[in-house]
Amino acid sequence: MAQEDVFKKIVSHCKEYGFVFPSSEIYDGLGAVYDYGQYGVELKNNIKKYWWDSMTLLHENVVGIDSAIFMHPTIWKASGHVDAFNDPLIDNKDSKKRYRADVLIEDYLAKIDEKTDKEVAKAAKRFGDAFDETQFRSTNPRVLEYQQKRDEMHARFAKALNDSNLEELRRIIIDAEIVCPLSGSRNWTEVRQFNLMFSTDMGSTSEGAMKVYLRPETAQGIFVNFLNVQKSGRMKIPFGIAQIGKAFRNEIVARQFIFRMREFEQMEMQFFIRPGEEMEWFDRWKKTRMTWHKSMGLGDGKYRFHDHDKLAHYANAATDIEFEMPFGFKEVEGIHSRTDFDLSQHEKYSGRKIQYFDPELNKSYTPYVIETSIGVDRVFLSIISGSYCEEMLDNGESRVILKLPPALAPVKLAVLPLVKKDGLPEKAGEIIDMLRFDFRCQYDEKDSIGKRYRRQDAIGTPYCITVDHDTLTDHCVTIRFRDTMEQERVRIDKLNEIIAGKVSMKNLLKKITD
Ligand code: ATP
Repeated sequence: MAQEDVFKKIVSHCKEYGFVFPSSEIYDGLGAVYDYGQYGVELKNNIKKYWWDSMTLLHENVVGIDSAIFMHPTIWKASGHVDAFNDPLIDNKDSKKRYRADVLIEDYLAKIDEKTDKEVAKAAKRFGDAFDETQFRSTNPRVLEYQQKRDEMHARFAKALNDSNLEELRRIIIDAEIVCPLSGSRNWTEVRQFNLMFSTDMGSTSEGAMKVYLRPETAQGIFVNFLNVQKSGRMKIPFGIAQIGKAFRNEIVARQFIFRMREFEQMEMQFFIRPGEEMEWFDRWKKTRMTWHKSMGLGDGKYRFHDHDKLAHYANAATDIEFEMPFGFKEVEGIHSRTDFDLSQHEKYSGRKIQYFDPELNKSYTPYVIETSIGVDRVFLSIISGSYCEEMLDNGESRVILKLPPALAPVKLAVLPLVKKDGLPEKAGEIIDMLRFDFRCQYDEKDSIGKRYRRQDAIGTPYCITVDHDTLTDHCVTIRFRDTMEQERVRIDKLNEIIAGKVSMKNLLKKITD
């Protein structure tokens, strides 16, 4: 099935099964804003808990905060967002559609990579075991031609971004003959900068009102609380502050479902270190974060690092962790070495001294920062895309399953009486009463047992427990495992222990500490 079709199926699956709904749908929706449904919110909360625990339980020197969305407007001057939080946009005059110029060029470069990979795959098939990929890539004329074209364009692109040269970005789009996907034409406007921050007025009278911004990232709430946390928590460098919260960006090109939203949620951790130690900590956090992603079992090959061509004004090293979404490898998390930019800027703009006295070095300095910044919604999308499968069964029917990591699944187990009579529903109710304090359980007695299994597969419930007539006398039930569909007879009084061993968040946390 084409990847585009897979993506469409995932989007409609999310809606049909109560994971994600378009916002304000009965009013025809609101662009790039989404609501999480009854299962979506559970999965999202589990993702947040996994991240939060991985940061604050597994690292003694990382603590959390929850800062307000509204902040003093000068913060966004200091951080550079008022002046430089811009995207380069370009319009197609025929379709009247607006695009991000950098994204158009990145997509073009990715297409050249795809062509090269296709040539390599074809040759690998032709030559079989004797195939030497490195040699092929360095000698095949067609691959070399693609590579040269890519390298040239890439070098121009990186330079144009670094120089903020909007005219050159436009020229690259023209030279690469990039067409508008809708109109198919190359009738482009100039490239312009567009600030992504939303603003509103705070205060009751129009004269007294102050323009405030909806935060475009949670990071600044951490920086402005650096001294509070360091002093009240008696924190010693190195230490980190973590935060989960909503962020808002007036994205120009808001498409691809929950990948790019105007209101989204971030999980950010700022790690404060001694100046000069940033490369060591940058590498350490890169590894730690990649291990966290891979621990979810969606496939190690679906992740890769992507180093930045253009470093943000505050960074001296930056990389993204990308996940292979149905629409290609895309950023899920950014890891940045932010130097002392943020704390120094807030020192300058607030007039307060923001430094740390290091007792070991016996001197004060402005700490450097390594940031890990990840979007909850993008992790959500990576988990749904990575776990969505359609399978043909032996009886000719098919099933759709979300093979979610059990610790993250919205519902941990379903309790299903085989029939709606003979005391089986009551027995099932007793089992739920026993388990509901530890796990999110669901009761279902409607339709055939096969249909009920399908419904649970579709929302990713890892275990189904069937209560049959024998249960009333042997006090045993059948557990059915979502992925293998295997069934096992177990005693009711062992259920809690069996399920706990399988769905505990500890399983994931242990994987990343081994
Ligand atoms: P992009 O290049 O895709 O716009 P970014 O580099 O601007 O992303 P950061 O500012 O580094 O993103 O934000 C950190 C993380 O926040 C991203 O890795 C992503 O997971 C998430 N994020 C950023 N913008 C959005 C958005 N509009 N919708 C959903 N998640 C987002």
